[in-house]
Parts: sequence; structure tokens; C-alpha cells
Amino acid sequence: MTTVNITPASTAASIPAPATPYQGDIARYWDGEARPVNLRLGEVDGLYHHHYGIGEVDRAALGDPADPERERRVIAELHRLESAQADLLLDHLGDIPRDATLLDAGCGRGGSMVMAHQRFGCRVEGVTLSAKQADFGNRRARELGIDTSVRSRVCNMLATPVGTGEVAGSWNNESSMYVDLHDLFAEHSRVLAVGGRYVTITGCWNPIYGQPSKWVSQINAHFECNIHSRREYLRAMADNRLVPRAVIDLTPDTLPYWELRATSSLVTGIEEAFISSYRDGSFQYVLIAADRV
Ligand code: SAH
Repeated sequence: MTTVNITPASTAASIPAPATPYQGDIARYWDGEARPVNLRLGEVDGLYHHHYGIGEVDRAALGDPADPERERRVIAELHRLESAQADLLLDHLGDIPRDATLLDAGCGRGGSMVMAHQRFGCRVEGVTLSAKQADFGNRRARELGIDTSVRSRVCNMLATPVGTGEVAGSWNNESSMYVDLHDLFAEHSRVLAVGGRYVTITGCWNPIYGQPSKWVSQINAHFECNIHSRREYLRAMADNRLVPRAVIDLTPDTLPYWELRATSSLVTGIEEAFISSYRDGSFQYVLIAADRV
């Protein structure tokens, strides 16, 4: 596979071609990312996520606000909600046989991949633009003794090294806002077997609101991403032989996670934008599962 070096040379990121300068920026962003909110939560049980949580907060598990252990408990609770999010995504893949292969598009540090392998016993291939993330995920897989089944590679999810029709299921867990959706779903449609399942969990702007709100624009600037509308998701899927079987609005389920996170020492400054836009209806957290037909 040919590789292109993305300038500037000092922070060069090598991504297999084809890659754009924007993808070079995203590779650098994730190579440099080491926010405590991601690392300290991962340390809880060794599953490293770069996504948000869903479900009710277990107030009893948090204990008393004055408890010196409170911060550790908040971290454990946020992490539990993030793993619950990945579990819900995996639920929507359906029954996956042990001899199947799954694709995690935009795999981050690989937490969802490990969970998928633990659940289905199958092979899981992940792609990320960040060499640091791929190394991290592969190191975790070696530590867990599952590196013959779970592998992360540095490559563009719009042009993966996966063969046509080779995967039984594929997903984007909070990684679809970095790419054109028509290009993305064309690639998923190519690698998925007919009858295979695609699942995404993503933030999207709500067409009922009208246009992206100021909060959505802030989130885009913060993460250097481009949040799509719910309508764009459904249209791009329809154009690429992906037929939705479930569209679930997870907004009410993710708000408790954000409200808890906003009270913790791990705040990153973007919490207000998420909470405000979920509350004013301009932004939604959705799961979409689709059949490759
Ligand atoms: N799915 C992971 C990580 C989400 S963070 C999780 O749930 O923990 C977003 C991820 O998307 C990063 O790993 C980033 O490298 C990846 N990404 C963004 N654009 C990409 C592209 N064009 N090709 C491959 N990965 C991409």
C-alpha cells in the first residue's frame, strides 16, 4: 500500500493514500490527545473509550459528595456509562458467529473492539488515522492475549484494506463526523456482506431545529469535526444499500452522563455546548442500525 506524508514534516503523520490534508490534521489531533477524561476512565478496567455514556447514573455508587473517594467513584461511574454505550451498539449487530470478521471504523484506542471480541469471540479489525491510537490498541490486545483476533491499523476508513463483502458487521462509534457520509457508507456497503449489519452511534444536528445551532458550531470547532444532520445520515444510507432497521434517539439517555461529567474534575470545557444543545433540541445523540441489502 502506498503511503503519503502529510506536511508539515515536523509533525508528519503517515496515512495510507488516499488521504487529505484535513485527515492529516485529524491524525495529529488524535496522536496528541491525552485528556485525563479518556485515560483515567480507561484505567478503571483497561477498556479505553473515546465516546460518551448512556443510562441512568447510579447515585448510590457515587456515595457522599464530601467522601474523599468521590472523584474515583465519579470516574468509575462515567466509565460504566461509556461501556454501556458500546454494549448497546454491539447489541444492534445481532448474532455474530465466531468465524466472522467485524470492522470498527475510527477505532480510537480500541475499547469497543475488545468488547466485541469478548462478546462474539470473532475477529475484529479496526482502523484509525492515529498511529499512537493503533499502537495503543495493539498493545492492549497483546496484553489481553487477543492480538491474533483484534488488530488496529492506521488507515483511512474511506479506503480500507478490507476485501469486498468480507465483514459480517461494521460500525462507527462517534467517528462519522470526520468524513463525507456518502463516501463513508459507500465503503461500509462495499466491505459488508449482503445481509450484514451496520451500526453507528453519533451526535447529529436535528433538522427540526432548522440549521446547526451555535452550540453545534462550538462542538465542531472544539473537535475539528463536521457534525452532519439526521437527514443526511438517512439519505446517505439509502443511497448506499443500507436500510435502517432501528433509529433510536439516545439524547435523554446521554444527558445524565453529561450532567455528571460537568460536576467532575475532568471537565474539558465543552460540556455546556453538549448539555445546552441536547436540551434546546438542536443536537441529538442517535443510534442507527442498518441492514446491508
Ligand atoms: N470509536 C472510538 C473512537 C472515537 S474518536 C471509540 O468509540 O472509542 C474518533 C476516531 O475516528 C479517532 O480514532 C480517529 O482517528 C478516527 N477517524 C477520524 N477520521 C478517520 C478516517 N478518515 N479514517 C479512519 N479513522 C478516522
